[in-house]
Amino acid sequence: MELLLATRNAHKTREFAQLLGNEFKVADLNSFSQIQAVEETGSTFAENAILKAISASEIIVDLATGRVRPAGGLVLADDSGLEVDALDGAPGIYSARYAGDSATDKENVAKLLKDLAQLGTEGVKRSARFRCVLALARHGELLGTFDGVIEGAIVDVARGSSGFGYDPIFVPSGFGRTFAELPREMKNQISHRAKAIGAFCAAFRAGNIEGVPN
Ligand code: IMP
Repeated sequence: MELLLATRNAHKTREFAQLLGNEFKVADLNSFSQIQAVEETGSTFAENAILKAISASEIIVDLATGRVRPAGGLVLADDSGLEVDALDGAPGIYSARYAGDSATDKENVAKLLKDLAQLGTEGVKRSARFRCVLALARHGELLGTFDGVIEGAIVDVARGSSGFGYDPIFVPSGFGRTFAELPREMKNQISHRAKAIGAFCAAFRAGNIEGVPN
């Protein structure tokens, strides 16, 4: 089954490809310059995932040739981010641009640690979670959404070098290491994205997605 991932984030694409396995042939928006990035104007992860999936599926792309054509395939978009309880759920849907519109991962992490440090140490909760919502669309029509959450805590100092985004400061519950210290395969078994993709694959295999043959 061919699947266009509505992202230009190569890290996300790599995780998606590993998680979806051989059943799906994936490409992302980096292969299709004709498809413009949509503005994320939603107020929830789900709203933004739906916006991305629908907008990319309105322009139909033939994955085999890379050409835009009038009938097309399935588009899967994700919106994801980190919710920190002591920051009232921030950065949330603003995770990618917490320190500014073109902020790097390092700048976002530095701002988050600074904001937490400013609250002091006494009694400040470090609990947090990554959340992921996937939206599946075709021909501008939403076919379904799938969620995943992983609970954990924020450490004081960034640790580890694998992964991306806030991985170096997030320790999943039950683990002593940050996502950036854990082997990639381990993150891919427990992450928010893994859980959301698990829900999508289960629905796909059970034939529960209307109009999509399994
Ligand atoms: P999106 O591309 O608008 O969904 O933004 C997602 C942002 O959330 C990313 O740029 C990261 O900052 C953060 N994020 C989402 N998933 C992960 C993850 O698995 N590890 C680390 N950071 C993540």
